[in-house]
Amino acid sequence: MMYDEVLNTMLPFLKQQYGNPSSLHKLGISSHNAIKKAKNMIASLINSRQDEIYITSGGTESNNTVIYGVASYNKNKNHIIVSSIEHDSILQPCCQLEKKGFEITYLKVDENGLINPKDVEKSINDRTCLVSIMFVNNEIGTIQPIHKISDICSKNNILFHSDCSQSAGKLCIDVKNSKLDMLTISSHKMNGPKGIGALYVRSGTKLSPLIVGGGQQNGFRSGTENVASIVGFGIACKLSKDRLLQNFIHFNKLQGYLHHEINKKITHVKLNGNATRRIPNNLNFSFFGINGEDLITKLDEYGIAVSTGSACKSNTKKASHVLKSMGLSYERINSSIRITIGVHNTMNEMKQTVLVLDKIIKELRSISPLKYKYNF
Ligand SMILES: *Cc1c(COP(=O)(O)O)cnc(C)c1O
Repeated sequence: MMYDEVLNTMLPFLKQQYGNPSSLHKLGISSHNAIKKAKNMIASLINSRQDEIYITSGGTESNNTVIYGVASYNKNKNHIIVSSIEHDSILQPCCQLEKKGFEITYLKVDENGLINPKDVEKSINDRTCLVSIMFVNNEIGTIQPIHKISDICSKNNILFHSDCSQSAGKLCIDVKNSKLDMLTISSHKMNGPKGIGALYVRSGTKLSPLIVGGGQQNGFRSGTENVASIVGFGIACKLSKDRLLQNFIHFNKLQGYLHHEINKKITHVKLNGNATRRIPNNLNFSFFGINGEDLITKLDEYGIAVSTGSACKSNTKKASHVLKSMGLSYERINSSIRITIGVHNTMNEMKQTVLVLDKIIKELRSISPLKYKYNF
């Protein structure tokens, strides 16, 4: 759900405050200043400078900009290292580059979905121009050791980018005290409007723009800025920062309850991903003997919205590439669902979710083809 404060701040910019931020009249200047203020709030969330923040249409564009932008700037270096569990907005641009002769290393993860920083070090060669490893995975919530990885990159003079779409506003990120060169943020992952995001680019980092045209944002990202959404995104960053600890405690409490109760009440269940190196608003379970999509449909009838795999891919019916990379069995992948807890969720909703889950799982297991395998 969008924060009330976010919507209220956006509304005037959708109507009377309609000035083009590039225009020189009062309305234009007012829009320009509103963007500047919002960029300060975005910068403050990650402790960067305001002029190191570029506004994009979201996490997808920020990630595309990094992969294509670094690749096209580096004419002589054609090797990129990413993890095999990155979001598709990293993996697909990499696939496209492979067709053009780039070499991409897709680092394997362990059974908990973790990257070993030593594997990054081993994969670096003299043609490597970029390493991109996400901070938190969107399907399993695993927190990657990006600070160790960024140290390795910095030592080897290689650009390091991290997709922080899932972690920004939830975990502390401080670019002044880390060696991140670029970082992706998505507004709708922290209760801001959809279709807007940012790319942090450390000053002095060299990459080509993805979208060219009128030269807005210092020529790095052309196109008239989406003022209302930028303003909303700014407030979402400010609120997420102000409430970081409060939200963290809230998520932890709800996650802990759900995890504990599900383990207590439901048999033949396994948590996917690392139990401790995990963002507190994510749980991913396999309920054996059940098809994840059947479970989602049933839960939806009770007003409980969960997902399988990644929200962006659920209509393609492909098994999760993340769970596959972790080496999980087809059956375990097929029976998995992801439960994401939002800031607006309550303990009562968690209690209701456990009751409904227990009931539906019993029903589905009673008609499961695997009924006799597990003795349900
Ligand atoms: C959501 C998400 C994206 C894409 O962000 P959009 O703003 O939806 O384009 C990229 N990476 C990760 C890890 C995400 O969770």
